[in-house]
Amino acid sequence: MPLTRNSKGVTTVSEILRVSGLTVEFSTEDGTFSAIEDVGFGLEQGKTLAIVGESGSGKSVTSLAIMQLLAENGRITAGEIVLDGENLLDLPPNDIQHRILGQQISMIFQEPMTALNPILTVGDQITEVLLEHQGIAKKAAYERAIEVLREVGIPSPEKRIRQYPHELSGGMRQRVMIAMGLVSEPKVMIADEPTTALDVTIEAQILDLLDRLKREFGTSILFVTHDLNVVADIADDVIVMYAGQIVERGSVLDVFEQPKHPYTQGLLGAMPSLTGVEGDLPTIPGVVPSIANRPSGCRFHNRCPFAHPRCTAEAPAVYRVGGQDVRCHLFDPHRSEESQ
Ligand code: SF4
Repeated sequence: MPLTRNSKGVTTVSEILRVSGLTVEFSTEDGTFSAIEDVGFGLEQGKTLAIVGESGSGKSVTSLAIMQLLAENGRITAGEIVLDGENLLDLPPNDIQHRILGQQISMIFQEPMTALNPILTVGDQITEVLLEHQGIAKKAAYERAIEVLREVGIPSPEKRIRQYPHELSGGMRQRVMIAMGLVSEPKVMIADEPTTALDVTIEAQILDLLDRLKREFGTSILFVTHDLNVVADIADDVIVMYAGQIVERGSVLDVFEQPKHPYTQGLLGAMPSLTGVEGDLPTIPGVVPSIANRPSGCRFHNRCPFAHPRCTAEAPAVYRVGGQDVRCHLFDPHRSEESQ
């Protein structure tokens, strides 16, 4: 694993991706609204970082912004996305298209049937990036495609490479998507809910595969999910998002053992397999507010069991608590007694 020296001369595990201050706005008929604000995190070489949150938390917008695949009405208004020392937001679109996407960063989507081209064979789709962007000869590209299909656990890859997506099972199609993402040996792989459409057995196989790729090839994975069970299975570090902001960040071990933010506590408390509780589990009342309707102060205040008057009036800062970063007034070391 590559090591670097920081400004103090301390040797650290290197970050392959650093996102700072990332803010994305969407223009709608009702006005312009921020989907995510001031999102920042680092992804270390050969690690898996999970972004977790309910629908509307901003986790998918974050991954699409990194890939610069936002819908037409969306734009990045602030921040940096630094991949291996290079700020992607400084690069011309042509460079992003031909040198970065699919080569240095690749993405696995939730539903492979819609992401794969139904009229091209598996082999044509996997070799496309090698033929178009890496100038590899056709025979060598097909040999590499067979090799990568074998690496992702597809039996008889010499036969499968000539088939079309509709001839494969759902689990097999997702493996093909992963093979497409892997074939160019990217520095970062972004997986956006890649197992949501699969049954639990296939899901477990795909998670095992991603974990093996991380260990064997040192691939760094940004894993977007709403499912904390999946986070526990696959991630080293986790970011919890709520209403467009990161509310808690830390190692999976720390966050699962000692969740600090009331939202994280609520999510974990509602997971049967994590709590071991049988019967009715506690739920978080209410829903994530829409981007056009976010409350003042702490965005979680109308769902939070610990809300106090300061929470409705003042947006909380982020505090370092143990190994975690937490966006909550409860951790303000200077908070007054009356605000508790
Ligand atoms: Fe709850 Fe207040 Fe903390 Fe927000 S700032 S999570 S409302 S205690």
